[in-house]
Amino acid sequence: MKNKSRLKITDLGEFGFIARFSPSFLKKLPSGLVGIGDDCAVIPWKGRKKLLVTTDLLIDGVHFLKDRVSPFDLGHKSLAVNLSDIAAMGGTPLWAFLSLAIPPETEIAWLDEFFRGWRKLESRTGVHLLGGDTTGSRNSLAITVVALGLADSRHIRYRSSARPGDIVAVTGNLGDSEGGLRLILGNRPGKKFSAAEKYLVQRHYRPRPHLEEGRFLASRPEVRAMMDVSDGIDSDLRRIMESSGCGVKIYLEQLPVSAALQKCCRQHGWNLEAVAAAGGEDYCLLLTVAPEKFTVLAEKFFRRFRRPLPAIGQVTPDRGKLVYLRAGRPVVLGNIGFNHFRRD
Ligand SMILES: [Mg+2]
Repeated sequence: MKNKSRLKITDLGEFGFIARFSPSFLKKLPSGLVGIGDDCAVIPWKGRKKLLVTTDLLIDGVHFLKDRVSPFDLGHKSLAVNLSDIAAMGGTPLWAFLSLAIPPETEIAWLDEFFRGWRKLESRTGVHLLGGDTTGSRNSLAITVVALGLADSRHIRYRSSARPGDIVAVTGNLGDSEGGLRLILGNRPGKKFSAAEKYLVQRHYRPRPHLEEGRFLASRPEVRAMMDVSDGIDSDLRRIMESSGCGVKIYLEQLPVSAALQKCCRQHGWNLEAVAAAGGEDYCLLLTVAPEKFTVLAEKFFRRFRRPLPAIGQVTPDRGKLVYLRAGRPVVLGNIGFNHFRRD
């Protein structure tokens, strides 16, 4: 057992960090406010409307590699990951704030491209940048975004509403972004990507926040808990389990994966199940649905979006237990999942 005073942030991990520091802030909250612990904070607005607020910090060398990612993609992605949190609550994003810590060698042309990528997603989603802050940075580029949106209070979906028996579903393919990241990190100079590889890299760099899907699903009473897939379903499901006090079983053969990911897993010897379950940054939505209503909901989803709403598992009463099943048998996927404070 480590001496408590010597504990480092790497020992705590992100879950431990939040568990240690959030309770004192949550205790003092006036009623009607939802604070730390979900995709967005929820603040009373006008009438039934609530204001949703989320923020994300992206650092060169941790969340992206400035010398690999195009500034256009980085501008797009910085906004996209925040809008995804608003999608996760069923809201409509409206406003954003952007703060940048910029190393001195940064070229203006780089920043022009960054903002071109940002604006492209802004105009597609109707979001307006209202302000922020800029400062010089002696080391890495750091990007902080705050996004705000509105939602009808009846339609906001939280992580805490999953119930045993609910069907667990996702709104998109899993693992593509992780596959793209592996290719980016492993790529040798001069080596050209195949079409399948390019697809995965694109999925990593240009995530699409599932805003319409989020609003559609949040307006259905049978949808109970919802969040976005940012750290990978293995991590993200544990957040739903923790908030809702339940467990989850996942049917590995039902995880939706793209043909491109299957192909690249075969070629590169990656474990397809582990990439799909533990790979982060897909930014689709993860939800739980009242079981008797799931089939009809999936049909409606298909009619609206022309793609399926894959069921990947079920909520169980076994508090804190995440079980993976392959052909009905429990299997161990190994030490997977993303820890923000891991040193490697
Ligand atoms: Mg989120």
